[in-house]
Amino acid sequence: MNVLVWRSLIRYPHRCMCTVTGSSSQVSQPLNYVDGQRVDPKCTQTFDLREPATGKSLRYVASSNEEDVDTAVRSARREFKAWKKFSGFERGNVLKKAANIIRMRSEELARTEVLDTGKPIYEARMDIAGCADTIDYYGGMAAGISGEFLQLSNGNFNYTMREPLGVVGGIGAWNYPFQMATWKSSPALACGNTFVFKPSPFTPLTAVMLGEIYKEAGLPDGCYNVIQGEGETGALLGNHPDVNKMTFTGSVPTGTKVMEACAKGIKHVGLELGGKSPCIIFNDSNLDNAVSGAMMANFFTQGQVCSNGTRVFVQNSIMGPFLAKIVERTKNMKIGNPNHEDTKVGATISEEQALKVLAYVDIAKKEGASVLCGGERVVPDASLSGGYYISPCILVNCEDHMTVVKDEIFGSVMSVLGFDTEQEVISRANDTEFGLAAGVFTNDLKRAHRVASELEAGSLYVNNYNVYPVGVPFGGYKKSGLGRENGPEALDLFTQVKSVYVEMGDVEAPF
Ligand code: NDP
Repeated sequence: MNVLVWRSLIRYPHRCMCTVTGSSSQVSQPLNYVDGQRVDPKCTQTFDLREPATGKSLRYVASSNEEDVDTAVRSARREFKAWKKFSGFERGNVLKKAANIIRMRSEELARTEVLDTGKPIYEARMDIAGCADTIDYYGGMAAGISGEFLQLSNGNFNYTMREPLGVVGGIGAWNYPFQMATWKSSPALACGNTFVFKPSPFTPLTAVMLGEIYKEAGLPDGCYNVIQGEGETGALLGNHPDVNKMTFTGSVPTGTKVMEACAKGIKHVGLELGGKSPCIIFNDSNLDNAVSGAMMANFFTQGQVCSNGTRVFVQNSIMGPFLAKIVERTKNMKIGNPNHEDTKVGATISEEQALKVLAYVDIAKKEGASVLCGGERVVPDASLSGGYYISPCILVNCEDHMTVVKDEIFGSVMSVLGFDTEQEVISRANDTEFGLAAGVFTNDLKRAHRVASELEAGSLYVNNYNVYPVGVPFGGYKKSGLGRENGPEALDLFTQVKSVYVEMGDVEAPF
């Protein structure tokens, strides 16, 4: 979701020109994917899947129980023995083919993502294009996964091998469902692991489509599996004794539980958790770029973005012009049917999440903040009256101690805070338990790098925000997570090093 993805849409215009509307056919089919087949889970316990755009029930989805989880893990374990013996080049070829199939089916995938998430179609298209690129990237990297050679004395030597971990379990949140399935599975598969994924119960559809795409690309059955379910299913996966690593995206409290489960089993764990990131705007920045950046830091996917820079620090000397421009542009954002081409704000994922966001706006007002625009439920038209649409909100008169400035809201609520000096804003920006991302807008080159080096965050943006070019590592400092997704770092985290010592002479034993 960024300029680079826009460019790739221009390069591959077919990605957005077809008019596939087959997303609803995805709803009625079985939604577990085990051993290369769509299957229904054994469990009869179900949860209601609703379309965020309308609030209407799409279907009931069965939760996977212990037997279902075990079947998927056993399938992944069985196939691991074969998949790890493919060369990196062969594994990469499968991934590269999958990336091309995603590009061919991009409109169908994007429409299905809209059905599941309520995000606007223009964003879903960017997400899908970025996912194809990520799988392509790891397809290209796979052939180069290798160990090292170390010459020792007397002709002895040591070499290392980068071996896969085994069965990887993945659990995702609901804001970027296809992206989570691809960001987690493609590096895992590139390294020779097999994979079992539990999507969020709010967004079960596209992860299963990915299974079919991998199969069509030549991935052996059992290498990629999907089990649907709620928290209980996720806990079964994390606690399964035959899972070697968990890769999780979600909130800090659930991430803590996943880490506890991994600690009990001494398993590898990767965590992508929440954030409350700062976006700092100095008075020497290009104001139009800074306003664009602050909007991108807050308003994609109805504000439900972990890396959002929701604490927008603006140097006091430009506060007036900044607010005038950003309020005007924010009020112009079209709120509406997420399937419409001109919609910029779609539906919140659920009623519960929408009420939580609106409650935060109320708390902000009670604590002394003022609403400059938005923060209200909107009904774009009668057919969408069951969906939860919230106008993007800008809060001023905010102070660092306020609830709305401290908590991750996960909705389009921007808190604007004034500051005077560089040192002051760095210390206030870092005063949080999170450390996922941060942005700095300035035309002073030295200041840009000085501030970037002082901010405690895994992803730093200078004069931009929320761009995710393929190949760039992503992950958090502090409570925002452990490990990195994307980039070469992810390959290290899905492999383990075997060190092989080779003696060329006789053994000199001391006994
Ligand atoms: P949750 O932590 O509530 O849920 C994440 C997933 O974990 C869901 O599939 C959930 O199922 C499942 N789960 C719940 N309990 C357990 C358990 N005990 N063991 C294993 N899995 C369990 O997060 P949300 O889905 O509400 O997503 C929002 C959060 O995700 C925000 O904090 C956001 O910042 C973060 N996030 C982080 C990103 C990053 O890359 N850093 C990206 C996107 C989101 P169920 O829904 O049934 O509870």
